[in-house]
Amino acid sequence: MRISHVSAIRPVLVMLVILGIQSSAEAWEIKTTNSGTPIRWADGNVSIDFDFSAELYGIPSDDAEQEARAAFASWGSALDSHLAFSYTSEEGLETGRDGLSVVRWGTDAGDEFVDPVALGTTYLTYRTSTGQILEADIVVNGVDYEWTVVDEECSDRYDLQNILAHETGHLFGVAHSVDHNESTMYPSAGMCETKKRELSADDQEAITFLYDSIALEGPGGLTDEILGCQASGGTGLWGAIVLLLAFGALSHGRWIRLLIPTSGALLLFGIGSVQASTLFALEPSELLAQSDAVVQGSVVKQEVVLRNDQPTTISTIAVASCAKASCPATVVVSQLGGEVGEVGLIVSGVHHLEVGRELVLFLRSTNAGLRPVGRSQGIFEVSRVGDVEVLTQDLRGSVLTRAGRAVEGTRMAVSRVQFDLMFGHKLLKINAP
Ligand SMILES: [Zn+2]
Repeated sequence: MRISHVSAIRPVLVMLVILGIQSSAEAWEIKTTNSGTPIRWADGNVSIDFDFSAELYGIPSDDAEQEARAAFASWGSALDSHLAFSYTSEEGLETGRDGLSVVRWGTDAGDEFVDPVALGTTYLTYRTSTGQILEADIVVNGVDYEWTVVDEECSDRYDLQNILAHETGHLFGVAHSVDHNESTMYPSAGMCETKKRELSADDQEAITFLYDSIALEGPGGLTDEILGCQASGGTGLWGAIVLLLAFGALSHGRWIRLLIPTSGALLLFGIGSVQASTLFALEPSELLAQSDAVVQGSVVKQEVVLRNDQPTTISTIAVASCAKASCPATVVVSQLGGEVGEVGLIVSGVHHLEVGRELVLFLRSTNAGLRPVGRSQGIFEVSRVGDVEVLTQDLRGSVLTRAGRAVEGTRMAVSRVQFDLMFGHKLLKINAP
């Protein structure tokens, strides 16, 4: 069986190598609408509102604001003058669809825009027909992480400007650069790291491409052909490779050995999400402890609706079995982001569920409904190879950080037996609806 898999996959690998060579000069990627249109600001002036009034971790609001201005300046200086930013500061600003682009501290654990596993999150609202950014918000998680603006005395804290430089790149429409670890858009940041404050040549190429080679003047639209490094789809091929690797992994004992490295070549041509962020790595026991419900079932229905004027993807799961709490016949999962008519919203780090997929979901209840715990960490896709049930968690494009260490997220597949060992014996056979 193994031999037949290998021979079937060889042509695919050859193709990957060819595609990899073709695009090897560029590691950067840009964010796009569902139909593939690049997302960027139209020429003109963009007003940014800062709210760092909370003065967290002994950081005066003026100092925090200065770090944010420096982050914007590093990207802005790579551009011609057709895009300009002006700044104001105010107290009590909120994230949401209000026409304002707000960069702020998240200070409240109950704030739906503060995810406990994310250091910072960028929310990009855009016009779906043209890709024009309408507003953008950045929230820095001041609840679950400690921050500093002082290089010399840094220990066990995250550098505010370092993270803001990365999130500001997302705010401009730039996605991750996974092959250049010196890039500001490289999806990894450890404690006290400061190297993202300065753009690498790779970052500069991305921003120059996005704003100098693509014409977008107001809602009119795009005129230039889109070049280079953006493509989508192809999960079928990758799925086959993962399953093969999963088989190889079944004989090994430890969780860590089941991590499947993601090749840069695969990410280069856009397989998987590039809309990611830095997430706090949850141990399996923590994933379970933080869940209000754990269900296995299939996504039978999905719609994107406007909730508080923000596109929100609502997925209905027909439940086959559950652990924890009661076991309803269906659960509804609510995730910020998606496209409704002319309005689109991208939330860095959020992968939307897909209709028809069978999933195991670790869910927490928020005042905006049930959401996966730890962003994509709480989502496992179920597939079968013969009699073997395989559960796949896809964290590619995200960075997982813990105790100052940061690792690039991968796609990981485990057998049902391994999964049950990780989360406790026969986790999902406790009850059925
Ligand atoms: Zn990021």
